[in-house]
Amino acid sequence: MSKTILVYAETRDGKLRQVALETLGAARLIAGDGDSIRILVAGSNITEAVSALKPYGGEIIYTVEHDDLEHYNPDAYMAAIEAVLGVAKPDAVLFGHTAIGRDLAPLVAASMDAGQISDVTAIENNSGEAVFTRPLYAGKAFEKRVFVNGPWVVTVRPNNIPAAEAVEGVDTSIEDVAFPAPSLRSVIKDVVRKTTGKIDLSEAKIVVSGGRGVKSAEGFKPLEELAELLGGAVGASRGACDAGYCDYALQIGQTGKVVTPEIYIACGISGAIQHLAGMSQSRVIIAINKDPEAPIFKVADYGIVGDLFDIVPLLTQEFRKVLV
Ligand code: FAD
Repeated sequence: MSKTILVYAETRDGKLRQVALETLGAARLIAGDGDSIRILVAGSNITEAVSALKPYGGEIIYTVEHDDLEHYNPDAYMAAIEAVLGVAKPDAVLFGHTAIGRDLAPLVAASMDAGQISDVTAIENNSGEAVFTRPLYAGKAFEKRVFVNGPWVVTVRPNNIPAAEAVEGVDTSIEDVAFPAPSLRSVIKDVVRKTTGKIDLSEAKIVVSGGRGVKSAEGFKPLEELAELLGGAVGASRGACDAGYCDYALQIGQTGKVVTPEIYIACGISGAIQHLAGMSQSRVIIAINKDPEAPIFKVADYGIVGDLFDIVPLLTQEFRKVLV
């Protein structure tokens, strides 16, 4: 029986997030012949995001546009999604495993009486049966799960599923769905962004991260320089955040952000289990630490034993020769 798969395309400040294309990529991995992939875009200013999505296909893009959707608010966004669920009647709904996706997915699963599989890092299509891989115990083990009946809700971890590619000659229709304007239990007055770089940490392909070994806020400067040169983002251990060297928005780990970049450069980070929980799935891990016994070297693909204040500027200098 054919399925309707609804992809929640996340936007930020009216722009499509990379994770939206990865979520669409996940839908393509799940979909079989005759299945319909549809997309939902909700927000207060979504024209640009919808135009950006059109080349990627999908039978229908449902749009819900309203001033109440300017900032993320679970009451408002659930009202928008439920309006679309009523029209699309999907068998599966997919979200990015982002702060917003993690908040919405269980609400949607409860509303649809659906099963949920979260934080998916890989999907196999076994003759029509979707098999979802997700990490357990901070990435020390993986489990493979399938749904035995529907409907389903799935969240996919950013930077793991290949992004959907544009498809030629698609005929995507756009359907505006009226926002039912619910009564909101809370409203957001203002949002104060606390990030240093231009690139979102959880979506960055390269992360240069600093720990207590960085020793001061000033000590983060060489890391920021390297990250900027490589087009990456700066992250941190909780040790560095607790010491006041950087903002908690940069914290990676069990109680911080989970990142899976192509390259993770850990500078002056010992490699506590709580830190590994947020970065051990990175494709290539490079550790710089002056202690050859530091546990970070056990998970590192490449290790440099030495002083980060010598090594990081050297790396920047050498990369500059080839990149600029
Ligand atoms: P340290 O462990 O102090 O390591 C500093 C490292 O820098 C050392 O290995 C040292 O050799 C090296 N170093 C010093 N100077 C230099 C230099 N000049 N050049 C090169 N290397 C140098 N931690 C997180 O990171 N994220 C979390 O989300 C998190 N959640 C937690 C949740 C709970 C419930 C608990 C109990 C702890 C949590 N922690 C978390 C804290 C975690 O246990 C560690 O304390 C923390 O990760 C240590 O940070 P660090 O590696 O920067 O500091």
